[in-house]
Order: sequence, then structure tokens, then C-alpha cells
Amino acid sequence: MTEQFDIAVIGAGMAGASIAAELAALGRGKHRIALCEAEDFPGYHTTGRSAAFREECYGGPDIVPLTLAAGDYLHDGGFLTPRAGLYIARAGQEAEVAAFQERFAESDVTIRPLGREELSAMLPGIRAEWTRALHQPNCADIDVGGLHQHYLARAREGGVTLRTRHRLLDASRSGGDWRLDFGAAGEMRAAIVVDAAGAWADQVARQFGVEPLGLQPLRRTVAQLRVDPKPPADLPLTLDISGDFYFRPDNARIWLSPHDETPSEPCDAAPEELDVALAIDRFQSVVDWRIEAVERRWAGLRSFLPDRLPAYGYAPGTEGFFWFAGQGGYGIQTAPAAARLGAQLLLGQPRDAMTGELDAKLYAPDRLAADTPV
Ligand SMILES: Cc1cc2nc3c(=O)[nH]c(=O)nc-3n(C[C@H](O)[C@H](O)[C@H](O)COP(=O)(O)OP(=O)(O)OC[C@H]3O[C@@H](n4cnc5c(N)ncnc54)[C@H](O)[C@@H]3O)c2cc1C
Repeated sequence: MTEQFDIAVIGAGMAGASIAAELAALGRGKHRIALCEAEDFPGYHTTGRSAAFREECYGGPDIVPLTLAAGDYLHDGGFLTPRAGLYIARAGQEAEVAAFQERFAESDVTIRPLGREELSAMLPGIRAEWTRALHQPNCADIDVGGLHQHYLARAREGGVTLRTRHRLLDASRSGGDWRLDFGAAGEMRAAIVVDAAGAWADQVARQFGVEPLGLQPLRRTVAQLRVDPKPPADLPLTLDISGDFYFRPDNARIWLSPHDETPSEPCDAAPEELDVALAIDRFQSVVDWRIEAVERRWAGLRSFLPDRLPAYGYAPGTEGFFWFAGQGGYGIQTAPAAARLGAQLLLGQPRDAMTGELDAKLYAPDRLAADTPV
């Protein structure tokens, strides 16, 4: 049997779940919407593997507006637990600190320079060579599981049909609709398809005959450490100003990443021991704490377009194909604003208080299509 929908969203990670929920709400039940996920449960890939943080500068000045626009929704929904962010620098890195501040001077983020004394009060045990920092008071941990479930629940309440174990295998255009082939799981028809397939978004586009945008999945590793002394509960998210590591506490443990960006094919990413060892080596150059155990390690794929900005919008030259991809390392903290904007662009609806200030042209797929190698 072929199921008929108006809109089919491919991928039920944070991107797919959030835009499906927003499409259902904005369309006020007028559209039949399917949310199609290849795996047994939504959130198995990148969404389930993040560092669960909202860092206001993350991704650069053109991502900041999305992060800030999403802030109230995350806060009001109870998905945030305040935690400061701290970019730390060694003696001799003054120019890097100044360049960082300069880069965000026009952004509405709060950044405050700290000297050694304040830094060692916030990060007890920090080694003497680390002499300065940039403090961001308005960052937070994000309840990623809670946010993802919230969007799945909103989608369900809005009448969206979730289909797990539905891996799109092929697509073709017939009679003004897309015909979607899920193999043994069945077939669907839909007028509009949303490509929210994360690391697989370019592969999915090819199935529709749409020119890929040059998406590159990059592997990122996280290790959970048990350390002595136990990290203070209010320890900031601590990032290296040169981008060599970050760490933060989680339930009296440390989540540590070497900030790796290893190019990968779309896959079920797994951590490499070398990256874990590198992370530990860097961590030991920061604090004098003893590492008692590496309790857990994981890796996920952060997927970037060539200019490291996402793509939200219809594919130029192909009817009924909407990009919602390239969420990179900020797809959780930007999700509410990205999904609202994406749904408004797809349905041709006006902006609202959340999205009114966003410059959608920054994220338009046609900025990439012309010069991207196929
Ligand atoms: C280690 C790490 C740390 C991170 N930390 C943060 C952070 O602190 N803050 C933050 O905001 N972001 C962070 N991110 C980034 C964030 O996790 C991602 O931007 C976000 O999860 C991307 O969501 P997504 O829905 O696009 O991708 P995914 O969650 O990967 O979802 C895509 C889905 O599409 C499905 N799919 C693919 N192909 C098909 C097909 N053919 N048919 C059907 N379904 C298909 C997949 O099965 C998958 O479930 C981090 C990422 C990593 C890896």
C-alpha cells in the first residue's frame, strides 16, 4: 500500500523532529506530514551523541543570531541549566584572545576578559601557564533528550506520522509528487520532501536528482573521565582558545573532547583510541587533577557545508525538495529558531518574534549550489 502525504521529512534527529513539529503547528493540521527515520528509534546518530551545551559564540558570528533567537524557547521550556563558558589561553596568546573578542564585537553575546586570579578561582587546579580567559556568563547545559522528546511529542500531537525503520532507498517524481521507496517497509507519496538526514543529507539529495551541496561529516570524540578531585558542579564549560579541547562536568564526571574534526563517510561513528589519548594528554596540560578512569567514550558526526553555515530552503531548480541540513556543531542550541524559520520558509509564512531578526539569505541553499563540485 502506498501512503499519501503532503510533506515527508527524512530523518528524525533533532533537525527532522523539530521541523516536523513546527510544520504541523504552523500548518494548523492542514497538511499530512510523515517523519521517516531509518533507525529503530529517533536520535540514534548525532543527536544522541552531543556534548549537550549552549555556547553563545559557537559556530561564529553568523550562527550567533540563531543561537540567541532560540534561547528563550529553550529557557522557557526548562531545557537549560545555567553554566558559564570559559575560553582559556596561555601566556603569549594575547593576540588570539584579542582576535576572538574582536570577531564577536558586533554580536550580542556577553564576553568578559578574566585575569589569572579569577580564572584559578573558577577552575581550581589550573596550571600556572594558563594566565587569562574570556568568560561567557550566559551559556548553559541543554537537556538534549528532553528537547528531542518534546519535539517528537509536539509533532505527534500535531498529527505527524512517525515511521521508524524507514530508510529511504530511492525516490522518483511522478504526477506532481515524489514517490518514496523504503524497500520492504513500503512506499509513500509526498508533494514536498524535507532533507533532514544529518550526515546523509547529500546522499539523500542525490536520490532525488538534486545536486549535493558539498556536505562533509567530521567525527568528534568525547570521553567521560572520573577524576580526583571531583570537578566542582559549577565548573564552566572550558574551551581552549586555539580549539584543541573542551571539557565540562557532568554528574561529578568530566566530559572531555580533543575537538577533533576527522573527515568521515556518513556512518555509525565510533571513537578512536588515539583521539581519546590525545584528549587526555591535552587535559593534563590544563589541570593538575588525577585521572582515575576513562569510563565511557563515544563519537558522532558533525556535518558541515563548505562555509560551515546550514542550509534551510528549497533546492534551486527542483520542485518540492527542501534542504534542512548542515547543522554542524550547533544543531541542538539553534534547533528552535532553525526549525521555526525552516517551517516558515517551507510554507511561505511570515516571520514571527523568534525569527524576525534572522537573515535567511545567509542560510539559503542557492548560495552554494553554483560552485559546488558534484
Ligand atoms: C560529539 C558532539 C558534540 C556536540 N555537541 C553539541 C553541543 O554541545 N551543542 C549543540 O548545539 N550541538 C552539538 N553537536 C551537534 C549536534 O549534535 C548536531 O548538530 C545535531 O544533532 C544534528 O541533528 P540532525 O538531526 O541533523 O542529525 P542526526 O541526529 O544524525 O539525525 C539525522 C537522522 O537522519 C536519519 N537518516 C539518514 N539517512 C536516512 C534515510 N535515507 N532514510 C531515513 N532516515 C535517514 C539518520 O538515521 C538520523 O537519525 C555535537 C555533535 C557531536 C558529534
